[in-house]
Amino acid sequence: MQYITVFCGSRYGNSARYREGAVQLGRELARRNLTLVYGGAHAGLMGALADAALEAGGQVIGIIPTFLRDREIAHGNLTKLVIVENMHERKRQMGELADGFIVLPGGLGTMEEFFEVFSWHYIGLHRKPCGILNIDGYYDPLLALLDHMTEQAFMPPDTRRALIVDDDAARLLDKLTVFAGQP
Ligand code: AMP
Repeated sequence: MQYITVFCGSRYGNSARYREGAVQLGRELARRNLTLVYGGAHAGLMGALADAALEAGGQVIGIIPTFLRDREIAHGNLTKLVIVENMHERKRQMGELADGFIVLPGGLGTMEEFFEVFSWHYIGLHRKPCGILNIDGYYDPLLALLDHMTEQAFMPPDTRRALIVDDDAARLLDKLTVFAGQP
């Protein structure tokens, strides 16, 4: 794996733990020489993640659409900032570059991005590992819903098992690496 695409909130949430987890992931990506690909904003957890990776000497590529450049304030100090025309183009480039995906706490935008990559995994459009950094149990309700989908036979158990979950950035990246190495 070389490029890890991370989806996360453009807000901080109301617990300092979310920010701490984002910083931990940013540092861990840099330590492993993995390039962070993300939405290019300086706001919320997105900014905290990118800053942590950069401060630890990592490479960070941001991809942001023109209309969000000002609203979410594009990060001014990235290794590379790609300005695209719209949200679809942003997601397409973030998805194509990725060797694996990680989701941090976030809101509607983060969920939209997560469900696209995980549902595309489910229908076989890619085989890239999808991971959730479940900081402070933020995603427990989502994981319960996914379990419920499986129990009620709307999602195969194999798909549920393919979703990689951990509350520690280093362990999560280890698991993604193992998954990416499988045939
Ligand atoms: P949020 O989790 O809502 O803070 O959003 C995180 C990121 O996802 C931000 O950069 C948002 O601009 C982006 N986003 C919001 N809505 C969408 C959407 N419908 N599709 C893709 N990305 C989105």
